[in-house]
Amino acid sequence: MQYQNEISHQLARRQTLRQFRAGLVQKDTICDAEFILVTASKYHGHLADYPCPICGSEDLRVVLWVYGDEIGRAAGSARSEEEIEQLVKNGRQATVHTVEVCPTCKWNHLLKAETATAS
Ligand SMILES: [Zn+2]
Repeated sequence: MQYQNEISHQLARRQTLRQFRAGLVQKDTICDAEFILVTASKYHGHLADYPCPICGSEDLRVVLWVYGDEIGRAAGSARSEEEIEQLVKNGRQATVHTVEVCPTCKWNHLLKAETATAS
């Protein structure tokens, strides 16, 4: 499997964090992860190798979320790397969103979006 067309959202993330630290953004507007996202991050995600930028929790998770017309009912769900590999074999492609989620404070942010295809 290979990833192409990566669009990084690190800049937007840094801006949000800067605005939060400057007191320009309320915590509850950026720490608003829905129940399904938090749950998916626990079951399908993996631990980030850095703490939550908002609350410092070591339980910060990174989860992959897949989209696309070609992957049928899997679209709009959280998947492991192995599952995505299965989804895109036979020439299909999927858009994969890498999202960080903090189960403690509900912080969540899109890190990058990219296209997965069979290699
Ligand atoms: Zn947190």
